[in-house]
This record gives sequence, structure tokens and C-alpha cells, in this order.
Amino acid sequence: MILRYYADADVREWHDHALRLLQRLHDEHGIVVEINRIDDQHGTITDFPGDVRSLTPEDIYERDLKRNSDLNQRIDQTPSEAFKRYGKLDIAGNVAVVDDDGTVQWASTLPGYADGYGPGAESQTAMDFLEDIATSPSNRICVECLSLLEGDEIFCPNCGHKLS
Ligand SMILES: [Zn+2]
Repeated sequence: MILRYYADADVREWHDHALRLLQRLHDEHGIVVEINRIDDQHGTITDFPGDVRSLTPEDIYERDLKRNSDLNQRIDQTPSEAFKRYGKLDIAGNVAVVDDDGTVQWASTLPGYADGYGPGAESQTAMDFLEDIATSPSNRICVECLSLLEGDEIFCPNCGHKLS
């Protein structure tokens, strides 16, 4: 499993914080992290512990999001509603959990923090997701194998890792 960041978030602070959290998740939990860079607006990314590549939003949408039934089941909106608002692709700043077959299993649909989006947005935001995993134990994802969780498990159903 891979944690993928579609960079750069519009707000520099969010971008920098996402990079720090990804670095930390790699260092502390050995999570494989990578960056697909769509919008190179906050300078060169150096010393990142994973793959960094530049891609167009169209390529990412076609490969990861469009007609992705796994993703469709796990997010509130359809992928086209979430990432192609009014016909314009809006992906940068989000993060995705990618399984071993390369299929995106979950993706944030709001790039920043829940503050500003209103109550209940935590489950949809990139920054809250990254902070939740960094502050283990996470009830959203198993830090050992990156399996998505329902939230009330005691052991990870995939790898058996104790979650509390
Ligand atoms: Zn696990």
C-alpha cells in the first residue's frame, strides 16, 4: 500500500505540513509515500523519502479516480463530483491510499483542514487524515499495512496489528 500526495496544495502552509507529515509517517511507521506533482507552485521538493513525479491532472484523473468503484463506495460524492467540479479538474492538495494493485481505495476530497469547511468535514480532508495517521493509534487506517478501518476494530482485520 502507498500513501500518495497530489501536490501542491494551494496554501503553502498546508503543502509544507503535508510534506512533514509524510516524512514522519515514512520514518516512524515505514509507510511508503509518494508525490504526484500536478501544480508545482511551492518550489523544489528535496530530501523526500519517496518517489516524486510530475503528472497532469488529466492523467491522474484517468488513472486513479475516474470510474473507480472502490473509491466511489468510500467517499460521499462520486469521483467526478469530488474532483471534476463544474468540468474543471481539482485534485491538487489531496491525498490517496493506493493498494498493491495500484487502485486508489480512498482519497480525500478537501485539501486542507476541516476548519473552514464546517463540522463533519474531518473525514474528507487531507490534512486531518494525515494528522490522524501520524497521531497513532489511528482509527481510520492501520499504520502497519495501510488497510482502511471502520473505526471500532481492536485488531486490524488485514494484518492483525493491535489498534489500541
Ligand atoms: Zn493492518
